[in-house]
Parts: sequence; C-alpha cells; structure tokens
Amino acid sequence: MEIKGDRVLNTYTDGDLSLVLQNQLSGVKTNEVSKKHLIRLQNEIKSGRLNLESVVSCVCCGRDDFINVSNVDRFSLPFTSLLCQDCGLISTSPRLKEEDLPYYYSELYHPINFGRESMETHKHKHLFSAGQGLKIYKKISPYITKGSLKILEIGSGMGDVISGIIKADQKSDYALAVGMEYNRECLVMARRHAKENALDIQFAEGGFNEAKLISSKYNIIILSHVFEHLIDLKLAMEQLNEMLEDDGLLYVEVPGLFVNHMKEYYNYTFVDYTIHAHMYNFSAQSLVNVLVSGGFECLSINESVEGVFKKNKNIIGQPIKNNYQQVLFYLKLIGDKDFLKFSRSKDSKIKKINKELGVLSDKIIECKAIIDSLEEKNKINELLLMEKSKLLLEYKLKVNLIRQYSVVKHPFLKFQAYACLFNWLIIKQNVMKLY
Ligand SMILES: [Zn+2]
Repeated sequence: MEIKGDRVLNTYTDGDLSLVLQNQLSGVKTNEVSKKHLIRLQNEIKSGRLNLESVVSCVCCGRDDFINVSNVDRFSLPFTSLLCQDCGLISTSPRLKEEDLPYYYSELYHPINFGRESMETHKHKHLFSAGQGLKIYKKISPYITKGSLKILEIGSGMGDVISGIIKADQKSDYALAVGMEYNRECLVMARRHAKENALDIQFAEGGFNEAKLISSKYNIIILSHVFEHLIDLKLAMEQLNEMLEDDGLLYVEVPGLFVNHMKEYYNYTFVDYTIHAHMYNFSAQSLVNVLVSGGFECLSINESVEGVFKKNKNIIGQPIKNNYQQVLFYLKLIGDKDFLKFSRSKDSKIKKINKELGVLSDKIIECKAIIDSLEEKNKINELLLMEKSKLLLEYKLKVNLIRQYSVVKHPFLKFQAYACLFNWLIIKQNVMKLY
C-alpha cells in the first residue's frame, strides 16, 4: 500500500475530535493513600477550602480560541485540557487558585502522586532518577564560560538534581549553591544528603522571592519539572530575568507532549500524561514561545522538553510559532486505538525500528532548524538558496526513506513518519516562497 502523505496527514488534522476524546479512561494505578487523598482533594474543593478558577485566555498568546482535548486528568478528575488554536499551548482548566497552591503542595500533592503519607518513607528517596543532575550538567556544560558560579535550583525536592550537577562538574567552582523548596520534609532530607556527601549547598524554604534574599543574582538557574506547575508564567519570567546574570544560563525541563507515545509511565496516552497539578502542557515549540516572550533565547531543546536558555531582550515581541495543527495531529494519532495497541507492544523488532526512525526524525528536525535559522537571518542570496536546495534534497531523501518504512501495517510507525511528513510540508512551503 502506498501512502499519499498529504492525504493521510489530512485525515489526522481535519474532521472532528473523536479520535482525541475517545477512550479517555485513565489507566493510572492508585494505591489506598493516593485514593484517600484524591477524595480529600474533592471534598476540600466542595467545602471551599480549595478554590478553582477557569482559564479565560492563553498565557502564551493572550487569545481565547481553545478547543477541549481532554475531559479528565490522569486521576479521572474533571480537569479539562484546553488546546490554544493560536499558539498550540495546552492549559488545564479549571485549575487550583494560586493562593491555595502552598496548602495543596504541603498537604495533598505528594500523597496523591507518590502514594505515600510521608516522603521519608518514599521507596526511591528520589523524586527523579539519580542521573537527573548529570544529565542536566551535560546539557548546560557546553555553554558554561565562567569558572566561579552561583547556582540556584527552584523546587529542589530532595536535592539530588543540584547535588548531581555539582558532583558532575569537575571544571567549575561553585561559590554559591542554593536549593529552594516548599516541602519541609524534602528540605530535611536534602540537607542531610548534602552533609553526608560533604556538599556545600544551602537548602532553604520558599521559591523565587526567598531565593532573592540569599543572592540577588545567579549564573545558573535550574527549573526541573517546576515550570509546568506555575500559574503566572509572566511573573516567573520577570523574576528569572531579575535573578539571572546577563550572561547566565537558564535550564527548564518539563514533561514533553510529543513523547507521550513512548512513555509507559503514561500508558502511552495523553490522558494519563495530564494532571491537575500541571497548569500547562508543553511541546518544545510552546515552551520556546513562552520563554521568548519573556526575553529568553533558546540555545538547545528537544521534544522531551529539556531546554537551555539565555537572556536576550531583543527577542521579546518576536512572532509566536503556532504549532496547533501539529499538536492536534499528534493527539489524534495517539488517540488512535491501533496506534495505541502498537505503542504498547513489547516486540523487540518494533522497538528497534522505532529507534531507527527516531534517529531519522531527529536529523530531519535538525535540517528544519537550519532552514528556519537561515530564514530568520533573512540573508537570502544565491549561496543560501543553494544551501537550501541541498538541504531540501537531503530532506527529501530522508522523507522518502521514511515513507518506505511506513508501509503502515505498523500503526506505530505512523507518528515518526507523519511527523516528518508534516515538517516536510512546512519546509516545502517555506522554501517555495523563496524561489
Ligand atoms: Zn495561545
């Protein structure tokens, strides 16, 4: 069977939302502690101890043209996901009000999510894998230029990220290391862990405001799985701007939307990825859109949404790149029953092909990034056109290869192939404009 790229793509971008909204039953397993606290959450909402608000406009683009892409979150609670048609960012609505978040995080968040009354008894003693700090260090190290650094982590949990970074960095001297956290139990454990490892890290209670009291400026600021929990992103970015040195680095990591089909933890679905504590769900592009509006230029990012940024006031006001169509396409695809069945397959051959396609699709995204950057610089001369043609050709070859792969007996191959085709169509349009 031969695939007509454009036509197949349209079946996923046009039409109704049934493929997105169908089968939205959560597959998340909850234990007794988690269940008890989920009931408590609902009771406290009913009694008015916790208050909800609806999202009226998009935090990224300011518009209000949303479509509903999920009716519930991973716990089957009625927190819907709204996809913005003007930028592609997904917002959770309703959401807990800002003033109730400290109470929610101290009383409910950990038992609901980790199924434990106390963090002390947490099985793994790590909120994230122990390698998270090393991974982050590898992402930021190419951009570290100074020898003496002040580093800050907001939402430092049990401290393994910031201590992992410091342990991994053999080149720099950390004049100051600060981890800010609201959960007191986590702070106690983080301090103990730092002491045991002879690491000079200050763990303090609070967030942005309290971090400013310790030092007015930092060279590196880390937000690992924190940004998606914040409501007022504009305020957060103002604070980050204030605290980050002009030549400093900002690392932001959030759970990436476009890798859901590879996450067993989410049962390979969108609905199990959503959670009422995440105010927003990001693709790489939507995180870049938000941070650009706050004056942060992207140095590197991937679809797991691990991004390194630096300050650049000049990019404020740069137009938003709307990836609404791509998000919708992806949500419809992973909502496809056949696709889901295939994603869940344990077949090693399937996994191998998936990996190969992943590599190819990364290469294509690289090509796209090069072409985009050429366009942005607006240096359209013959040389660049030649360069573009070369890239275009290379791109075309890869797309053809992917087309061959996706003889579409295997629904799971669709995503990689279609995502490439999608990018290909966009590039084709852009390049054609130049001729
Ligand atoms: Zn928007």
